[in-house]
Amino acid sequence: MCAALSRRAEIPSLSGAEYFHPLFDNFAEWLRSQGASDRTICSMSGAIKHFIVWLDCEGIGLSDIDSAVIRRFFRHRCECPRPQAERYQNGIARDHAFQGRVVRFVTFLIETGHRPAPFDRCYGDQLVADFVGRLEVPERSASRVASYKSQVSHFLDWCWFDGLALSEFKADVLDDFRNHQCVCPGHFVHKPVRTKDQIAQVRNFFSYLTHRGVINGTHRSAGHEPDLEGFRRWLFENRGVRDITVDGHVFRINKLIRDLGTDPDTYTHKLISQALLRHLKGTSRHWVTSMTTSLRMYLRYLATMGKCAPELVDAVPTVPHWRLSTLPRYVVADDVERIIETADPATPTGARNRAILLLLARLALRPREILELRLADIDWDNAIVRIKGKSRVEVGLPLPQDVGDALVAYIEHNRPGTVESSVFLCAKPPHGRMLTSSAVTSVVREAIRKSGIRNPNLGGAYLLRHSAATNMLRGGATMETVATLLRHRSIQTTSIYAKVDTNLLSAVVQPWMGGEAC
Ligand SMILES: [Zn+2]
Ligand SMILES: [Zn+2]
Repeated sequence: MCAALSRRAEIPSLSGAEYFHPLFDNFAEWLRSQGASDRTICSMSGAIKHFIVWLDCEGIGLSDIDSAVIRRFFRHRCECPRPQAERYQNGIARDHAFQGRVVRFVTFLIETGHRPAPFDRCYGDQLVADFVGRLEVPERSASRVASYKSQVSHFLDWCWFDGLALSEFKADVLDDFRNHQCVCPGHFVHKPVRTKDQIAQVRNFFSYLTHRGVINGTHRSAGHEPDLEGFRRWLFENRGVRDITVDGHVFRINKLIRDLGTDPDTYTHKLISQALLRHLKGTSRHWVTSMTTSLRMYLRYLATMGKCAPELVDAVPTVPHWRLSTLPRYVVADDVERIIETADPATPTGARNRAILLLLARLALRPREILELRLADIDWDNAIVRIKGKSRVEVGLPLPQDVGDALVAYIEHNRPGTVESSVFLCAKPPHGRMLTSSAVTSVVREAIRKSGIRNPNLGGAYLLRHSAATNMLRGGATMETVATLLRHRSIQTTSIYAKVDTNLLSAVVQPWMGGEAC
């Protein structure tokens, strides 16, 4: 017979008064000290005694009780024995009142040291009070503050009840909290599912605790405190932003500030993009978008307050709405040649496509610049092609020999005779000019397909532009040279290509390169 069974058999022969002494008597005393009447204590005894017997039969010590144990008890198929002369009903419905009694008993066990407490409950209350005190500003509604208070109290009570020490939280503690089946004292009437908004509130509290050095003992070094309350007020008063959106911005900036530093005087273009890259590595695209939006807001706020230069707002890259890629969108130099070679110069379409591919690959043109290229833009005498870039600034680029040859082959021998001034025309009659970037994209796609290069992430008209930049950097060209070719106004934009080559950019932020910003 195993120990549990023998214990089960033994209990009915024990005297109830002795069996429950002194634990139950101490509990009764504790309840009385909290103002409970004898009648209340009497009504609680059945549930508590049943719980004590069940723990005994299961071989669970008082110091091992946590919420999982309690939930097991609520669900157990009852075959529990009763000590002699006890008349409480084991089969009694384990309803909400019953469960509340058990939770209260466990609270007693923790408060009186039968089960270790992870932290002093008064300390927890103090943390909640401090946090909520910071939230009480005129522009935040009282009900919002009350909602915060209720959520963060719940979080700390859950930690306390389940024995989670604040100093050693695991990374997924908030996920656990979101999903916990609630038996927390004072909270378990709450809806079992916690909303995103509620979790966001707890997350803010979590950041606050981290910042304060309560969590994981990571004390922040003294120095500048970021002016997040001022930022919050500014968002509210000047931007007409809703409460929940304000919380989101403040939360994100609070996170980023670890990488960015708290002193706006030290902020530069370089620091901002480096901090972003470091912080965004491996995060979701959604987070990347939200974070860049929040950072732009924050810098705008600092600029308004005269704390940083207004130009810094432009240092935050725009995130284009691209699909995710898992591999860098570029191909090595040999593959670029293979792609170009797929266009057969003996056919009119092939001659046109070869010229397009060469312009993309050698001069790193953007698709739109291909579409807008006019015959008059080519200066044959000086071997220069004039390109109107993003900000309508015209630049002259030297025409390499092979690009010039391909253009001549197309324009002189294969381009349909027409009054159209655009260089590149549709292959099909009536041979109008190519209208959209997707026409250029399909030229590139077709060439990649024919080249036999297998990479599901390739495609798109920017591929050859990216490859030109990346291969130049790999070949040892300086950032300035590449920036000149790409006609970037800021070297910061160019540096995104360098990141690709050194694998510093995570797969998720790679869509930056070649997007609207480049
Ligand atoms: Zn039972
Ligand atoms: Zn709970």
